[in-house]
Amino acid sequence: MGMLSDEEHASVVPARLAGSPTPVPTQVVSSDEFLPIPQTERQKKVEARMNALADDYGKANGLPRRRFFQTAAGMATAFVAMNEVYGPLYGASPAEAKSVDLAQARASALSDQFVMDVHTHFLRDDTRLEGFVRGREAVGKAGWNPTLVDKPQTIDDLKYPNWFKEIYLDSDTKVALISGSASEDPRDWFLTNEMKAEAREKVNKAAGSRRCLSHAIFTPGYDGWMDEVDKCIATLKPDSWKGYTVGDNTNKDLARHPWRMDDEKLVYPFYEKMLKAGQDIVCVHKGLYPPSTAQRWPHLTQYATVDDVGKAAKDWPQIRFVIYHSAFRWTGGAGANAKDGYAQFEQTGRVEWTSDLADIPAKYGISNVYADLGQIFAQTTVTEPRLCAALMGMLIKGMGVDHVVWGTDAVWTGAPQWQIEALRRLEIPEDMQKKFGFTPLGPADGPVKRAIFGENSAKMYKYEIKKAAWRDDRFAAIKSDYERAGREPSNLRYGFVTPT
Ligand SMILES: [Zn+2]
Repeated sequence: MGMLSDEEHASVVPARLAGSPTPVPTQVVSSDEFLPIPQTERQKKVEARMNALADDYGKANGLPRRRFFQTAAGMATAFVAMNEVYGPLYGASPAEAKSVDLAQARASALSDQFVMDVHTHFLRDDTRLEGFVRGREAVGKAGWNPTLVDKPQTIDDLKYPNWFKEIYLDSDTKVALISGSASEDPRDWFLTNEMKAEAREKVNKAAGSRRCLSHAIFTPGYDGWMDEVDKCIATLKPDSWKGYTVGDNTNKDLARHPWRMDDEKLVYPFYEKMLKAGQDIVCVHKGLYPPSTAQRWPHLTQYATVDDVGKAAKDWPQIRFVIYHSAFRWTGGAGANAKDGYAQFEQTGRVEWTSDLADIPAKYGISNVYADLGQIFAQTTVTEPRLCAALMGMLIKGMGVDHVVWGTDAVWTGAPQWQIEALRRLEIPEDMQKKFGFTPLGPADGPVKRAIFGENSAKMYKYEIKKAAWRDDRFAAIKSDYERAGREPSNLRYGFVTPT
């Protein structure tokens, strides 16, 4: 199950076992969709600096390292360490990192920010996507931690209760959209469409306000897929639709129905149907397809690119197409990763296939294509912050600042707070701004970041930020109790890292 072969699974350890619980991961974490890469030399340096600084600053604040990392100052410390190694990309000062009070004051001032995460996941209770558990079993067999063999319950970290905690309590996320993924094997859908709608109802009932949205997955070419669409329209009323053009992303060996977004015969009737039902948002997973994956499933590669986006968007101006992961290709894989993405950017000024996506609005004269950040942000922040800055620059330049939307792919990478902090602090280096004509990202609560964090999606989903009750609903009360009681973010990443 999953994309990692048995040998690959045997070679990775769960992120929670590797290294220290730093507030920002110091290794790339995979989500069973790609093979993570070993910790780079520079990441090793970052981790060592984070630990050393945390020991120093922790002592000054009377806190052991683990506890210090859970504070806002611990978070700031992580970015100070990253700046030391990668250059000053993140707004974080030693003064802030040193003082728990100062850091907390900054975090509290920003905690009210409207963050709408349109890309989150958890797994159904009866999931057999045991990739994560099998990884842990492999770890047990490898002798790193024999007790893991008997503790498959760690898959619970990928289920609803922990998703709820990490999204609504451990992060500043105000509204989350539950996504999913389909498979030719019905048992391997992350969640059925009913489950996503039920979870949305459960959350919104508990909150007493609209805190949760949900996707329905559409699967062109699958048996009875249009009947499923009809059923979703009639009963589940998804907030938007999500599709995977490779057909089956989870079990690529089973993929028999890849499709193109511009397939007039197969897919256009679906667009017509959803529009008739008053729905106008189609989200499509693209990218995350490094050369190693292309080698294994070459016949699916063309579907992972954005070749089909322009025509579809041009033909359907009433539909907003949101391209997930911004079609970023360079996720971990044997011999390819964000480093290669950065090398490609250095050499050519372009990054597959994000640059292609960023070209589409001008090339086709359209404005109904959007970019979701997803893994693009998580992955490049950890390994190549300069690439992260470059990608943000090119997406904003090509798509428009009002066409880039916040998604984190949590909880594969743990509570999304570190990603939120990373964007709040990130700035595009001046040399890069000049060379490529990128505009600055500006302050944490400035117009660019506010647009990306929530305003763009709020507009798309007709979510009235001002009128919404998220400031004083039941979740707001729960969160403030939780914080008063001393929040304990796990700082765990629930994917795998490759041990070194
Ligand atoms: Zn995802």
